[in-house]
Amino acid sequence: EFQARTRPKWLTMLPPKQEHMEKMQAFIQKMHLGTVCQSAHCPNMGECFSKGTATFMILGRYCTRKCRFCAVEKGTPLPSDPQEPGRVAKAVQELGLHYAVITSVTRDDLQDGGADQFVQTIREIRSLSSDTRIEILVPDFQGRPEAIERVCSAGPDMFNHNLETIARLYPLVRPQARYNRSLDVLSYAARYGLPVKSGLMLGLGESNDEVMRTLDDLREAGCEYLTLGQYLAPSRTHVPISRYVSPEEFEEWSSTARTMGFKGVASGPLVRSSYRAEHFFLFAELE
Ligand code: SF4
Ligand code: SF4
Repeated sequence: EFQARTRPKWLTMLPPKQEHMEKMQAFIQKMHLGTVCQSAHCPNMGECFSKGTATFMILGRYCTRKCRFCAVEKGTPLPSDPQEPGRVAKAVQELGLHYAVITSVTRDDLQDGGADQFVQTIREIRSLSSDTRIEILVPDFQGRPEAIERVCSAGPDMFNHNLETIARLYPLVRPQARYNRSLDVLSYAARYGLPVKSGLMLGLGESNDEVMRTLDDLREAGCEYLTLGQYLAPSRTHVPISRYVSPEEFEEWSSTARTMGFKGVASGPLVRSSYRAEHFFLFAELE
């Protein structure tokens, strides 16, 4: 694997149980679904798949944007599939998930950015599994208030949108995204009254001061749940890793974030936006 030989030991994962992996992969394939776990080469696939959980990626496999840290395939997307929300709901039911995370590629080609597909997916899951909590991890919908309003009105249990990195690195790392626009998406959902979550990758070239400022901005936007993880370059053509952040530093960020008022924080080298997402929800529920 890319850069594996120089990776610090805290990033070494135990090899996943082949039988769990194959079972889950076969199920996902049978249901004609996409997962961000596979598309983003997530290092936690072994753990999540062996627990029978995954993050479903709707609206196809091709993204209209070209973020330079992301392994999701880029290209011309297909029209959205009206059967997809039903298939996701069936998968959530068959896996017996109490907590489901739904995400998508960015669909700048669609009038509503794919908002309606999120709404339909939430509805279908609710109709088959009424007790399942639903987290949506959404794109920025180009900041269109009507699209954001639409997904908020479907009443997800957690509204997640990742800032991914600090403002200065946006042109390099996320050329088609805007830092302030992403903050606006989060503050819209917070004002709507939803629990709001966001995440950053560390190791892209950000300074500690810049991370502090970003956490301040997130709190200001009303974001209460935070994930911090190590950036791992998916290939040599992606932005290189600037440094490996130690587990101790991640711990420090976690306490800093809590003192800043974040209610739930997951911070560690292998933390991803949807990693053990159901644990976060417990914080929200205890409110
Ligand atoms: Fe990857 Fe999302 Fe960027 Fe698309 S918009 S390239 S899925 S991070
Ligand atoms: Fe999938 Fe999220 Fe688990 Fe990674 S952390 S395998 S993306 S559910």
